[in-house]
Amino acid sequence: MSEALPPPVVGILALQGAFREHGKVLRSLGVQVVEVRQPRHLEGLGAIVLPGGESTTMGKLLTDWDMMDPLRERILAGMPVYGSCAGLILLCDRIEDSDQPRIGALDAQVRRNGYGRQVDSFEADIDIPVLGPEPFPAVFIRAPVLTGVGEGVTVLARVGEQPVAVRQGSVLASSFHPELTSDARFHRYFLNMCTECGRTRP
Ligand code: GLN
Repeated sequence: MSEALPPPVVGILALQGAFREHGKVLRSLGVQVVEVRQPRHLEGLGAIVLPGGESTTMGKLLTDWDMMDPLRERILAGMPVYGSCAGLILLCDRIEDSDQPRIGALDAQVRRNGYGRQVDSFEADIDIPVLGPEPFPAVFIRAPVLTGVGEGVTVLARVGEQPVAVRQGSVLASSFHPELTSDARFHRYFLNMCTECGRTRP
């Protein structure tokens, strides 16, 4: 029997956007949460969440507050990260028609606001097999579309042809907002992933 690891302290990037909602879900799962606004808040974190919001604004604030480089370093060194919506955009290494600041830890190409104006927000019950057979209520708000993923990226869910949830090692991303529903399975999956990554790290 493997010994239980304590849940990690999870940081939530709290510069802008839907960070409070992620905090609520994680706290409801018994996790200690730290709101990250300055480089020193990165100390002691076991994992981090990059929320939805506006990726250009978050990227600019990360740069202005000297957090982009230390955050990228930690993520590239294996600190588990979950990015939802704008957070996914920040994680991608290719953003169509944009040179906005990014972390670039996910081998994927993204088109911002890729669902277009007519359907800029919608809800869909989607299949996410790693969460079990029950469909997941996914909320999309001016969501990005992943237009290409690298070989090392596992697609966890799709809507039509498009991947909407992906994982590459210790990097998890979704183009939807699981924090806006009462279904905590996606966050629980992230916490399990953190434990798994902690176990396999030297
Ligand atoms: N459209 C936003 C962006 O480009 C993302 C929207 C969201 O996070 N809900 O950053």
